[in-house]
Amino acid sequence: MSHDILIVEDEPDIREMLRFSLERAGYNVQEAADGESALEYLNNKIPHLALVDWMLPGISGVDLVRRIRADETIQDLPIVMLTARGGESDKLASFERGVDDYITKPFSPKELQARIKAVLRRSGHNESGQLIVADICLDTRAHRLMIADQTVHIGPTEYKMLEFLMRNHGRVFSREQLLDHIWGRTIYVEERTVDVHILRVRKLLAPFGYDRFIQTVRGAGYRFSEKD
Ligand code: CA
Repeated sequence: MSHDILIVEDEPDIREMLRFSLERAGYNVQEAADGESALEYLNNKIPHLALVDWMLPGISGVDLVRRIRADETIQDLPIVMLTARGGESDKLASFERGVDDYITKPFSPKELQARIKAVLRRSGHNESGQLIVADICLDTRAHRLMIADQTVHIGPTEYKMLEFLMRNHGRVFSREQLLDHIWGRTIYVEERTVDVHILRVRKLLAPFGYDRFIQTVRGAGYRFSEKD
């Protein structure tokens, strides 16, 4: 599976250039021309990284980042900011507002690709695309689950659930948060559905004794943890 990158940039020429360069590097690219459409997009789908221009009409790039960081469903989204301003104070300000890295225009496609790769690596999306805990190996490129070197058949929703929980291991998510992440906010799904899929994931892990990793936290929700 290749990584999804959301480009938020109002200038069509720059957007085109970014898309071209990132698609050539093997990424799936989505575009938003302003902050409002970016937030709308994020309501339905969470990409692996967002590339946000500083200068946007309406909500500014910095405000967009602030809003993303204030929303617990998407606050961990890695963000790289594009800036035409070279001033140190601007750069510092963007870091303080929670940007993972910034690139000053003009930049080369090579620099862009290197920065994005580095941020994705730091955020846990490693080169091999594998999430490994104990004997569980989730291959996020092939969407394949291997436990103790055996391939375990996993349905698409259970896969998403397990990937999300493993990626955020140790963190507790409410049913509502899991619904937002796995089904998106615009689709109406009953909270009970989350329990059904959690059960199915546990069933897949049970023959290996790893069902205990999918933990129910009373009154709070679910988490993936190797500790009891
Ligand atoms: Ca712009």
